[in-house]
Amino acid sequence: MNNSGNKLPDLPEENRNKSNNRRSFLKKAAVATFAIANAELISVANKGSFGQRETLTEIPWYRRVTRWGQTNITEKDPIQYDITWWRKHWKDTNIQGVIVNAGGIVAYYPTKIHLHKPAQYLGGRDLFGDLCRAAHEDGIAVFARMDSNRAAEEFYNAHPDWFAVDSEGKPYKAGELFITCVNSPYYNDHIPAILTEISRLYKPEGFTDNSWSGLGRDTICYCENCRKSFFAKTGKDIPKIRNWDDQVYREWIRWNYDRRLEIWDLNNITTKAAGGKDCIWSGMNSGTISGQSRSFRDYKEICKKADIIMLDSQARNDTNGFQQNSDTGKLIHGLLGWDKLIPESMAMYQAGRPTFRLAAKPVQEARMWMLEGIAGGIQPWWHYVAATHEDRRIYHTPVPVFSWHKINEEFLINRNPVASVGVVWSQQNSDFYGREESDLLVDQPWRGITEALIRARIPYLPVNADHIDRDASKFSLLILPNLGVITDTQIAMIRRFVKNGGGLIATGESTLYNEWGDRRPDYALGDLFGTHTDNQHKTNSGRTLRKTALETLHTYLRLTPELRKNVDGPHTGAEPEIIGKRHDILKGFEETDILSYGGLLEPVLTEPSGEVLMTFIPQFPIYPPETAWMREPKTDIPGLIINTISDGGRIAFMPADIDRQFGRYNLPDHGNLLANLIRWATKDIIPLKIEGPGLAEFNIYSQPGRLILHIVNLTSAGTWRQPVDEYIAIGPVNVSIKLPDDVTGKSIQLLVSNKKITGSQENGWLNFTISSISDHEVSVII
Ligand SMILES: [Zn+2]
Repeated sequence: MNNSGNKLPDLPEENRNKSNNRRSFLKKAAVATFAIANAELISVANKGSFGQRETLTEIPWYRRVTRWGQTNITEKDPIQYDITWWRKHWKDTNIQGVIVNAGGIVAYYPTKIHLHKPAQYLGGRDLFGDLCRAAHEDGIAVFARMDSNRAAEEFYNAHPDWFAVDSEGKPYKAGELFITCVNSPYYNDHIPAILTEISRLYKPEGFTDNSWSGLGRDTICYCENCRKSFFAKTGKDIPKIRNWDDQVYREWIRWNYDRRLEIWDLNNITTKAAGGKDCIWSGMNSGTISGQSRSFRDYKEICKKADIIMLDSQARNDTNGFQQNSDTGKLIHGLLGWDKLIPESMAMYQAGRPTFRLAAKPVQEARMWMLEGIAGGIQPWWHYVAATHEDRRIYHTPVPVFSWHKINEEFLINRNPVASVGVVWSQQNSDFYGREESDLLVDQPWRGITEALIRARIPYLPVNADHIDRDASKFSLLILPNLGVITDTQIAMIRRFVKNGGGLIATGESTLYNEWGDRRPDYALGDLFGTHTDNQHKTNSGRTLRKTALETLHTYLRLTPELRKNVDGPHTGAEPEIIGKRHDILKGFEETDILSYGGLLEPVLTEPSGEVLMTFIPQFPIYPPETAWMREPKTDIPGLIINTISDGGRIAFMPADIDRQFGRYNLPDHGNLLANLIRWATKDIIPLKIEGPGLAEFNIYSQPGRLILHIVNLTSAGTWRQPVDEYIAIGPVNVSIKLPDDVTGKSIQLLVSNKKITGSQENGWLNFTISSISDHEVSVII
């Protein structure tokens, strides 16, 4: 295991050159006319640190366009759309690409496709065509936006067999519209015909789709097309009910995922046939794995196919905060690669809680979402609904962020993340372990771990469980936050990681289920955990984590060993007797013998190598207060076991789902315990040390010859619920960062406060101080 702070980017040299070339090109693109119709062949003199040679690099438009805008056109807009005004706004915001409504539910151009209904107020206007031509004249790329998931009654009456139906054959509806079935000719013929027509008429650079994946997981379609297709694939009938224990239902889930990937391929074949090899189709995707799961969109497989991810994730919620956006960016880049782009639709209107489509979101709130996205490698894309606004403040919101992005773009893309902690996830775990409770069983533990990391200023990266071998050399620690479902291949990869000296933290029911979500007889990594299930001594009569996940139980954890004992009982005035020394993981808790918990624990069997640091105190009453005393103050049921294997990897298994509790209730004790545990398991191999008050997120990136530290100040946001409308500056922030070999650390440029500072160096670490950070700061260290 290396300290990743010491490493060069993991790209092979050839890719580094490409990456260099792309940056050089992007600098040129800022002044050159933007030729977008086809991918260009660009000759770039590569005079970087990897040799002096001339290479030819082809950079298609979807790898160059880094600022996007979208005016989501309402059906009323064709009579009020002022293209001249919007062209100016495109220019004012420095965008290089627009997303323009084209077809699907309604058409914004004079279509000849049967049943492709013109927008209500379209009249004779060719609004899409006018906008597409204007954008091309301005050197701006066009993503033609489709919305292909439902249709009006007239369409339904013409082709009732193209629509999703329930088990009694009744069509599923959303409001007045009928929902189309993904297995019908609507997706096989009708949508491809529209894509072909638009491509031939207008030559947009590519296509995206707001809602392309059809009926979600909560509803089963029983139409004839679905029945036939499922039978052909599995030899079985469509399952009657949603039942995760039924193998047919599980196969139905997989079959649905496969169908969405077929649609992805079909649409790409169609648009490339009509518009050339760079005329890609890239449907929009969600910012959460739970969202992807509910829509049958397999993120890992989609990212294998995608050239760009169009991310539809517009605002924070109170539960996840702004930091979710950087987490999402890092997670998707982990699948897609850090050399591709992930523009994200960012609402300038009051999206979220509550939603007002036509009111400007407080500018500080909108900016913070954008900044956290950029910190996670996401590209900005302003988003308005409707082409005219009486709340004119909305137009001002994106301007400063987009201008800053344009100036500093070379530091914000094509960079490699630096972190020594990997947090492992998989969509299978959300599906087959999380099932209908993925928020409680998968998302909450994820949130608890990642927020504990952010709070402790420890940079981390999401790692897909199938990519552990690929990414292992970056990390000194992997964390499995209640990763119940794990495949045999993934288990083998974790074993290799630990064998090579990597640390491991696993929580809750991690590794206890196979790929379908069936419980294994023991933890698949029980030998590493030093802990095994005790199937003889179950005490909670079948009350599993799944069943109690919604409850908050009045339970505690006892820290072991006890530190002190009062011979004559408490409060006698006698000097307490010191009777033990606790592990460093419990540092900071010297004045308590218990921590609040909230969950339930079963007995487990521990191996002699396992050291138990916390034990379970079972539930006792809260009300009335007279009854609030521990009925069983001590058990030997472990809550946290550490196991140090012979060749040095530090392993901790925490059956007590402290991560889930922290994700849920934000109790500082839980966050501090997790931070202690993580620091111990990494053997303190963390490339960053921060001093100074406040809640802030720190992400480190490397580019050849330089390090980039992106800091987002979450202090105001963490103080109270959304929306934030005033920033509270933090600072001074004292930074110590480990320098890689190719960075001298002689110069530090601050891209937001726009000044140069210097630091001091000691043992390969650079120390410097940032005096004040309002919303964010980017330090470029050369
Ligand atoms: Zn169907």
